[in-house]
Amino acid sequence: MALIKDDAVILRRLDYSETSQVLAVFTRNHGKVRLIAKGIKRSTKTKFAAGIDLLDIGHLTFSARNVRQEALATLTEWVQSQAGAALRDGLDRLLAAQYAVFAAAELTEDWDPHPELYDGISQTLRSLAAGSSPVSTLVSFQRCLLQEIGSFPILDQCVGCQRPIQSQRDLYFSSLDGGVLCRDCESARSEKYAINIATLRCMSARPDSSNSGSTDSIMPAFHVFDYHLSHLMGKPNPLLRMLMSAC
Ligand SMILES: [Zn+2]
Repeated sequence: MALIKDDAVILRRLDYSETSQVLAVFTRNHGKVRLIAKGIKRSTKTKFAAGIDLLDIGHLTFSARNVRQEALATLTEWVQSQAGAALRDGLDRLLAAQYAVFAAAELTEDWDPHPELYDGISQTLRSLAAGSSPVSTLVSFQRCLLQEIGSFPILDQCVGCQRPIQSQRDLYFSSLDGGVLCRDCESARSEKYAINIATLRCMSARPDSSNSGSTDSIMPAFHVFDYHLSHLMGKPNPLLRMLMSAC
């Protein structure tokens, strides 16, 4: 029985008895792992155990008979470093965090390590807890997620004719084709989403660049990435509508 230590974010939580929880966690070095936390909610005379909460970040130890195969590993220790409750000050930031972990859980496989995606998720939750703007924080997260799952779209040239995108008007984005379409190529496609050049520039901006897109383009860029992620997931992110009404 291997005993494994790792950093983790709590993606999903199911209380299945008085004292136990089943958790989906995203770990830094082992990817998404499902765990059973037995007795985690049991209080003793000296210690009150509140359980582990959704969106908590911490350090864990778990045991698994077959590393990288185990369907349900067993949590043996959990040391929280940021409480999910830190996000409850603002509904928009809480929903943004839930949006991010939903997409990460849907688009990754169990036991498939993505350390940079782990860093992206934990940075997203820490920024939101510190009061960052939900939509611009999510655009950075969407870029990171798409890079890590190998589905970042082609934005500098048309995916139909491979010609560079200049400052043409009437641009489109295709999720199936994985990038931007010029006016000449869009008419042959039925799956497409109209975008403008400012949105395209915002989507292409390096996350660490000072010119990461004007404020006006952040929301449209978020929606195009959301459109692409929905196609990849095969369903819309269920947090989207509530997030948009809260923002
Ligand atoms: Zn084209």
